[in-house]
Amino acid sequence: METSYLRPFCETGDIRYPLNEIRYRSDDGRILEVANPFEKFSTDTVARLKGLFDKRSGSWKPVDRSGVWRYREFLPAFEPFDAIVTMPEGNTPIYKMPRCAEYTGMNSLKAKHLGCNPTGSFKDYGMSAAITMAKKLGITIVACASTGNTSASMAAYAARAGMKSIVFIPEGQIAYGKLSQALDYGALTIQIEGDFDKAMEIVEEVCKQRNLYLLNSINPFRIEGQKTIMIEMLHQLNWEVPDWIIAPGGNLGNSSAFGKAFAEMVLTGFIDKVPRVAIIQAEGANPLYNSFINKDHTLHPVNADTRASAIKIGNPVSFEKSWFTIEYTSGLVEQVSEEEIAKAKSRIGIDGIGSEPASATTVAGCKKLVEKGAIKPSDSVICILTGHLLKDPDYTVELHRDELYLDVTRETKVRGKKKIVTDGFRNSPVQVPADVDTILEFIKKNVC
Ligand SMILES: *Cc1c(COP(=O)(O)O)cnc(C)c1O
Repeated sequence: METSYLRPFCETGDIRYPLNEIRYRSDDGRILEVANPFEKFSTDTVARLKGLFDKRSGSWKPVDRSGVWRYREFLPAFEPFDAIVTMPEGNTPIYKMPRCAEYTGMNSLKAKHLGCNPTGSFKDYGMSAAITMAKKLGITIVACASTGNTSASMAAYAARAGMKSIVFIPEGQIAYGKLSQALDYGALTIQIEGDFDKAMEIVEEVCKQRNLYLLNSINPFRIEGQKTIMIEMLHQLNWEVPDWIIAPGGNLGNSSAFGKAFAEMVLTGFIDKVPRVAIIQAEGANPLYNSFINKDHTLHPVNADTRASAIKIGNPVSFEKSWFTIEYTSGLVEQVSEEEIAKAKSRIGIDGIGSEPASATTVAGCKKLVEKGAIKPSDSVICILTGHLLKDPDYTVELHRDELYLDVTRETKVRGKKKIVTDGFRNSPVQVPADVDTILEFIKKNVC
């Protein structure tokens, strides 16, 4: 088999770059992808590989234990596998969500919770692959712009690999769980005035001028690692393909990786149909949604505004790649409001799972798509929960205390003008005098 190489996304001509050339765009500015010249495997090979994946699941060797490297036959040219950087990521659970099923009008509903990764978000799947590549390339300093989770993940994996890391974050817009990670894992943390899109613009230029290795999802090896999210999921489902995957859309790297994973699994003969992918955006950060509704494939950036900070992105880098996923899977794009996100998040919570707000767009989107008739209640649906509840505890506490604002400012007290209304979805803390009888009386009245 030919080896993998880099090419501009959707290039059909002969522009190609070797895997070890450090570049993120073609000379004419297009983003790159890894072209893996896979061929159709024989039925025997597919059966043997499926057996091998089962066997590796029971192994304690890090290269087998990892939900990325277990599926290394789908990854490009990282051999030999003795230098991989793994924590080990992946192995994230698939949960039933009975209360969310009821809330969305589904007969049943499942979640794959990528928040159960070493640093609490799906970014670890891609980061393990990209930091491993960085190590192979002899890189010593890595950088990214981040709404939080990329920086947390990069800082951790860089630390594991003995590299220095620099993160660019939008000042005052990062959730504390994520900021605390970047600081704790030793990243040089540069808070810049402006939003994520500004930070992204700056980091690309800084990386070019200083020869730093860029680890945003524009890095094609991140996408390769994130493909294994879908491979692992199908493995967990015994290779039975669900009807729908619902995922949040921010910079659109993850949804792009999903489409690439399905295309390669079809090509190699692992699956013969693909799930439809529904990408959900926040109303305040909805360039892909606009493009989908207007059937206009050009990206019109927006000024992003949402409390789901992980998807507060108005100028997504992987816009074209995620369009491939939509078309290849007969997928669609939906948008949800701040209220819909908050309410859905509280329903995920009472299923005992919890997530950060960006992940809750999936359950909110599911409800909307059921109401519109796009998803049938009997369909099999997996919501991709992208980040852990504890990433953004402020949001959750504000929600339950009825202090959730779009334009929150924090001094000694939380204030704001644009209230996010969540009546009936809150679980507010209560104040009761420190007296046993009063407390017993209170419990009797309110619980049993
Ligand atoms: C990064 C992130 C997203 C957005 O993913 P993209 O690949 O940028 O679309 C969504 N949710 C969480 C929790 C994230 O960390």
